[in-house]
Amino acid sequence: MPGLAPSEIRQQFPIFSHHPELAYLDNAATTQKPRAVIDGLAAFYEKQNANIHRGIYSLSAQATLQYEQVRRKVAALIGAPGPGSIVYTSGATAGINLVASSFLLPRLRPGDEVLISAMEHHANLIPWQMACRQAGARLGVIPMSPVGELDMAAFRQMLSGRVKMLAITHLSNTLGTINPVEEMTALAHRKGIPVLVDGAQSAAHLEIDVAGWGVDFFAFSGHKLFGPTGIGILYGRAEHLEAMQPVIFGGDMVRNVTFEETSFAAPPQRFEAGTTHIAGVIGLGCAVDFVSRLDRPAVRARVEALGQYARALLAEIPGLRFIGEARQAGAIVSFVLDRVHPHDLATFLSAEHIAVRAGHHCTQPIMQYYGIPGTTRASFTLYNTREEAERLAAQVREAQKFFT
Ligand code: PLP
Repeated sequence: MPGLAPSEIRQQFPIFSHHPELAYLDNAATTQKPRAVIDGLAAFYEKQNANIHRGIYSLSAQATLQYEQVRRKVAALIGAPGPGSIVYTSGATAGINLVASSFLLPRLRPGDEVLISAMEHHANLIPWQMACRQAGARLGVIPMSPVGELDMAAFRQMLSGRVKMLAITHLSNTLGTINPVEEMTALAHRKGIPVLVDGAQSAAHLEIDVAGWGVDFFAFSGHKLFGPTGIGILYGRAEHLEAMQPVIFGGDMVRNVTFEETSFAAPPQRFEAGTTHIAGVIGLGCAVDFVSRLDRPAVRARVEALGQYARALLAEIPGLRFIGEARQAGAIVSFVLDRVHPHDLATFLSAEHIAVRAGHHCTQPIMQYYGIPGTTRASFTLYNTREEAERLAAQVREAQKFFT
């Protein structure tokens, strides 16, 4: 098992040798890639490249084998019962859209309700809003408190017989809040309501146990888990995937085709029409190997402590206000600074080689809730250091002097 020291982990990420001064604190947007992933992708294209499933020759057979093995690795990482419940998608967004249009929409009737929360990323909001609009159903929003915690009493009250789906983020990309998805799933299931968990931010940092929690769907993206862009995972319970019709049609997803009729392959292949991002899958497999070799609970504890350290340093700055202060939180720190626009602050920090994100973070309703145009967000992961948190706080102070 590789050591836990960030310096040791950091050495495995070539980007930092090209940018030695870089404090990369935009991990909620995308993570950097370890050497193992970059080499794995290159090795696939150099030595292994072939299309999958349809080839009889050995290169294609080997590519197919590798491609299918990654499903097993992913299943093990997230506690899924097996590879059959792991669908390759282009990312969390695509996975959520697939569930909204293929699972929910056919069973949604006028007057029904879909529940999301006040802190959802647009990717876990708009697909449900569109489905509701199409079906004449209503989008219910679980409220949150000013510190960014869901109102669980309100949630319990909202679980009526009309609700046909609950879609909830595990870890808020803007507030850092970790939601009690296991408890929420149990409560929803008591009313027979299926649950999708948006794991875009949690898959890399939290222990995931989809079967243990009993969630119906879990979606995440490879690029936020140290893997390539353009590849993601949708976990779905077998009985749901079986019942779902594909929404994209083409090669590699059928059993039989005539001009009159088509029968579809079993899941997950049914949802993977056309040539998929094969190299992306292989790269994702390398990323899953990378995180699986780590002591995940220890990494989580260290990264969350780093987030707390950054908060403690920033809290000393007069005129700085955190957006999101939940008791259960990941290492995502959003804040606003009096009289300094988040874009100006991020530009100032960039000149100091500190990469943070500024804006609404694809959560405009959160900005509306707090009455702000955006926040500055620093998001930490396993290669970040205390020294980077200190640089961030010091430069936020400098920016404040500069702009006010
Ligand atoms: N959900 C959350 C909470 C996110 O943070 C993101 C991306 O930032 C997404 C969904 C969408 O992920 P992707 O753009 O990789 O599909």
